[in-house]
Amino acid sequence: MNVFEQRLTAIRRKFDDWEIDGLLITSPINRRWLSGFTGSNGQLLITKDKALLATDFRYWEQAAAESPAFELFKHRRTDEDNAAFFAAAGVTVVGIEAQHITLADQTRLDKIKDVFWDPLMETAEPLRKIKSPAEIEAIRAAATITDQAMAQVNTIARPGMSERELAWQLEKLMRESGADGMAFDVIVASGPNAALPHHHPGSRQLRAGDSLIVDMGAKLDGYHSDMTRTFYLGSEPDELFWSVYNLVQDAQTAVLDHIKPGMNGKKVDALARDVIAAAGHGDYFGHGLGHGLGLAIHEDPFLSTRTEAEIMAPGMTITIEPGIYLPGWGGVRIEDLILITEDGFEYLSHCPKEPVIRVP
Ligand code: ZN
Ligand code: ZN
Repeated sequence: MNVFEQRLTAIRRKFDDWEIDGLLITSPINRRWLSGFTGSNGQLLITKDKALLATDFRYWEQAAAESPAFELFKHRRTDEDNAAFFAAAGVTVVGIEAQHITLADQTRLDKIKDVFWDPLMETAEPLRKIKSPAEIEAIRAAATITDQAMAQVNTIARPGMSERELAWQLEKLMRESGADGMAFDVIVASGPNAALPHHHPGSRQLRAGDSLIVDMGAKLDGYHSDMTRTFYLGSEPDELFWSVYNLVQDAQTAVLDHIKPGMNGKKVDALARDVIAAAGHGDYFGHGLGHGLGLAIHEDPFLSTRTEAEIMAPGMTITIEPGIYLPGWGGVRIEDLILITEDGFEYLSHCPKEPVIRVP
């Protein structure tokens, strides 16, 4: 059985729990994960013994090549074809992806006779948490490109350069090293802007004495990477920078010293949160500790105060990214990407953590 046949088997095993005899997949990421199809338009209809992929003329050849485990349904985007698609599968109760179906989709589905639509809050998402060896290799390759660009920050960032300019230089480096694109817009947050966890780089010019957060990731073959480093621009950081920086680093170390399979997401989050709270900065670590990453930049499992039900397991690729953000001053975030293994974890991020960029 190839990986797509295995995934089909895994998702069919859930049909009894969901009380469905068919599953309609419309989310592009779940569609790709289940079928291998990378086109921009298409839907899957999976039954106990059929697997159909409907797509339009532009993709018929590509779909046949990418998704041999699926039978191609040549869809002309008409109501007749839509009815024929469901008739071909012979389904009566079909699970649909509640988080991806739009009202327009629902209106089209409601025209189909004799099928009951059952909205599901998640379909393939829980299965996607555990990565296959090929997925791990793709993520590793994306992380390597990110590492190499991040390692250049200390030679590129200079006072007078704008945040936007630094972001562009880093994007260029990642594209030149083979990235298909960015996992998300590069975040460069300098000085007081570093107090905003997802600041969008603007025209502010870097200056000596700034803390500087760079958060970025390359995208490769559909897979993402994600990494943050915090820098200090100047000769010698003041006491406040070091105290906040060291605290964030200690919080991350507390996680990496203890994380292992079987631990739940809330417990992992608490390993870092307790360190930061004990130092009096608990209110300034306002986001979760980390997230899963794969075909989506943010996906299950999430590590936060609410994810007691998420259990760490080998094959998960997750970020560990504690941060402290002090309004008016700036912030520090350190983010590494790791792979959970049988006996602990393996780093997928390797860029050193050397915050001081010495400039006059
Ligand atoms: Zn990030
Ligand atoms: Zn992240």
